[in-house]
Amino acid sequence: ELEKVQELQRLSTIGQISAGIAHEIRNPLTAVKGFLQLMQKEHDSRYWEIVNSELEQAISTVQNLLVVSKPELNDESWSNVNMCQLLESTLSLFENEMYRVKVEKRLYNTNSIISGKRNQLKRAIFNLLKNAFEAIEGEGSITLEHYKSGDEICIHIRDSGKGIPSDKLKHLGTPFFSTKSDVGTGLGLSQVYAAFYEHKATISVKSKENKGTEFIIRMPLSQRSIEGSKPMNLHIEPNME
Ligand code: ADP
Ligand code: MG
Repeated sequence: ELEKVQELQRLSTIGQISAGIAHEIRNPLTAVKGFLQLMQKEHDSRYWEIVNSELEQAISTVQNLLVVSKPELNDESWSNVNMCQLLESTLSLFENEMYRVKVEKRLYNTNSIISGKRNQLKRAIFNLLKNAFEAIEGEGSITLEHYKSGDEICIHIRDSGKGIPSDKLKHLGTPFFSTKSDVGTGLGLSQVYAAFYEHKATISVKSKENKGTEFIIRMPLSQRSIEGSKPMNLHIEPNME
């Protein structure tokens, strides 16, 4: 009997995960199809941007899946990355959300170059921003901040969304943990933690229900200076002032 119950639970978990993945891939592809049809009739550079952004969403979901299932397939070489540009270009993928969410950019230190895996970092920022936009029902605001502090760069992503209940904070980053019944895959933050872990960054989370959430990332400018040190450090602070 117990085995039967466990088997049923397993199947329903797989069902839920598959539904989330299907949803996260089908929606952007449906949008792409619609906009391609429009583009056949009239040329408008905005369509092109939307198509690009929607495809980026679908690719991101597939990439998140790969990260948890086969991390070795996700190999990418290190290069110099201008963090400010990366933040700007990732944020621009959410242009179609900005009619309802006010985004404040505080991007200082516009020339900060770090050594990193560009696509992996871009995906991580994308996943954090996506969660921030999804946390806001209707209107709200997001602040994206970036500055240098000593040998580190700091990135703050703060939203005015629904927040995370304190008993759920410990589950963040666990693959397939999601509170979004049918739309979420629970893979975004796993990718985020894996990506920043590889870059020897620390992530802290501050959240308050119905107030909002803030993710703070501190990443060393150069990986060489800290070779082999600093294990991953996850700080969780339930209170956001
Ligand atoms: P998904 O977005 O597919 O649910 P994630 O791994 O990206 O999966 O996030 C896991 C869970 O963490 C979300 O379902 C949500 O409950 C919570 N979460 C993450 N970021 C935020 C945020 N900015 N505001 C509120 N909840 C968040
Ligand atoms: Mg997510």
